[in-house]
Amino acid sequence: MPTSEFTLIYRYFSALGRGGAVDLSVGDDCAILRLAENERLATSVDTMVAGVHFPQDSFPEDIGFRAVSAATSDLAAMGARPLGMTLALTLPEVDDFWLNAFSQGLAAAVSAYDLPLVGGDTTRGPLTITVQVMGALPLDQALLRGGAQVGDGVYVSGTLGDAAGALAFLQDQWQPEPDAAGYLLDRFNRPRARVALGRELLGYATAAIDISDGLLADAGHIAAASGVKICIEPALLPLSPALKSHDSGDRVLQWALTGGDDYELCFCLPAGKEPPADCTRIGQVEPGEGVDCGLNIDIPAGYQHF
Ligand code: ADP
Ligand code: MG
Repeated sequence: MPTSEFTLIYRYFSALGRGGAVDLSVGDDCAILRLAENERLATSVDTMVAGVHFPQDSFPEDIGFRAVSAATSDLAAMGARPLGMTLALTLPEVDDFWLNAFSQGLAAAVSAYDLPLVGGDTTRGPLTITVQVMGALPLDQALLRGGAQVGDGVYVSGTLGDAAGALAFLQDQWQPEPDAAGYLLDRFNRPRARVALGRELLGYATAAIDISDGLLADAGHIAAASGVKICIEPALLPLSPALKSHDSGDRVLQWALTGGDDYELCFCLPAGKEPPADCTRIGQVEPGEGVDCGLNIDIPAGYQHF
């Protein structure tokens, strides 16, 4: 007998819905989440379309984990505490093997981010995954794009360009050594949203954004929202040994400056403030506009859907 929509939801998703802020989860018309009296809701939504945001033949576990990470990265960039998420899932068919693996990827993300799956919608069509995330912010605080001040230092977390290097590898543009290939693929398939870092930066950084479209493009959003110029020194960019194993330093730099999908944070700190662990100073905020890295590089505006 074909699996009904309700059996499918019950079998694969309803166990992922428990969490501290959840009063009512999958199964009713709405989920109900609790905010503390001194909190407000931060919410964001992200869609991943097969063949556009991930290769058609990606492992379903990775598709699930990555979709949640991409959405959760926006909570991280605001400094929000994860409360819960909903999932709008469009499937071409009911494939129990695929759904089982996909739900395991979701389960890994639910536990990594303490972000229960409290509801959603399930429809038939080309494979598309939309994750809507909800988080809590203190009433009087948020990490915005618009607060950078002239004189601030500019920082990023982790290393940059790994996901772009992985994608180039998946597209047969180069062949890293096995260890490097494994590392880079993990960075692409299993990005970790920087939730703890975002919360640490709340009330400490003047501005922040997550890097989903590439450093130059995303730092450009901080520059525009803050009315400042962001100056980046390419020699300071943190690069993984795996990425640096590519034989063209220019290509590596281009990935680090323009490659998306790393989901690291870019943020600004007033002069004299120490960065958190695993963060690197890459430049400074100056008067003016736009992003200047001293190189003549086209800034891709991110993937153009239309
Ligand atoms: P409604 O018709 O009221 O929108 P649905 O039949 O779409 O209800 O969904 C039934 C219940 O299952 C709801 O609580 C909904 O939030 C949940 N749900 C549906 N699809 C998903 C999904 N992909 N992941 C998690 N929960 C889901
Ligand atoms: Mg519905």
